Amino acid sequence: KDTLISVRGVKKFFPIYEGWKRREVATIKAVDDISFDIRKGETFGLVGESGSGKSSIARLILRAYDLTAGEILFRRESGEVVDITRLGDRDMRSIRREMQMIFQDPYSSLNPRMRLLDLVGEPLLIHGMGTPAEIKDRVAELLGLVGLRPEYVMRYPHAFSGGQRQRIGIARALALNPSFIAADEAVSALDVSVAAQNINLMQDLQEKLGLTYLFITHDLGMVEHISDRVGVMYLGRLMEVGPTDAMFEKPLHPYTEALLAAVPQPDPRGNRARKRVPLKGEIADAMNVPSGCPFHPRCPYADEACRKETPELRTVASGRQVRCHYAETLDLVGVSG
Ligand code: SF4
Ligand code: MG
Repeated sequence: KDTLISVRGVKKFFPIYEGWKRREVATIKAVDDISFDIRKGETFGLVGESGSGKSSIARLILRAYDLTAGEILFRRESGEVVDITRLGDRDMRSIRREMQMIFQDPYSSLNPRMRLLDLVGEPLLIHGMGTPAEIKDRVAELLGLVGLRPEYVMRYPHAFSGGQRQRIGIARALALNPSFIAADEAVSALDVSVAAQNINLMQDLQEKLGLTYLFITHDLGMVEHISDRVGVMYLGRLMEVGPTDAMFEKPLHPYTEALLAAVPQPDPRGNRARKRVPLKGEIADAMNVPSGCPFHPRCPYADEACRKETPELRTVASGRQVRCHYAETLDLVGVSG
């Protein structure tokens, strides 16, 4: 499959200043040397605890803020590959049509004073795409696409449930025919059954419209269900990247193993043998990233070398990528039966 987005060596550091001279006293490495590819038509899941930097990645890809180092290559619908980190506002504006975001909170992300016509049609208006009559038709069509009635165009968002409001947000994201959608904890605020419906809708839309998704969540069960491939983040770094099935069956990184051990068993009668690896301690402070392997204070397999030497993200024999000195020798346990 073609690569749609290639994130290469991306860093995002936030300096912390002190005093009237604004002396830099510390640096938060929100995203530290991240590289991964998102392939056209796939769902790439990005998981990690809160504060791991996964939301920052989405914001960097969508250029909501500038990066400190690295490049982000994007294959446009025309086939042209551009480094979006080096584009001016004007070029970026036209590329934004191809990249959209779905937000976590369906309540706060929609302006309550706007009708669905204006909410969903706003991106079309901004990009000058159609007469008012054409925009109204397109909005009705988009509502139909997300399973809402086209005649809702003149209603306001308060008339809808949380799940429906999220569909309104999805319709808005689809207005400009994007090829890529980033969803940051998109369904986390919804009830389980409503979340499942909206996930199914997103999967149908992916198939129908050929969309590529970056799906960001702390919920591994969700990732297992929706993602083709997964990246696991910890303290701004990618610890492991690989195909979802392979990673869930046999994780290569101790942090992935610990996350999987916390996933509830889907089948209560299943007697899957699972070693419980409780994750000890709290996620470290991003301002005081531990020496060596940043996971070492919480890792049950850590030794002296882990405290001193920082492992690189490297490709191992199975073609998967992992950032652990002992990936080949540790015999880690996943969730498959
Ligand atoms: Fe654990 Fe060491 Fe691997 Fe880090 S490098 S995950 S501390 S075994
Ligand atoms: Mg977040």
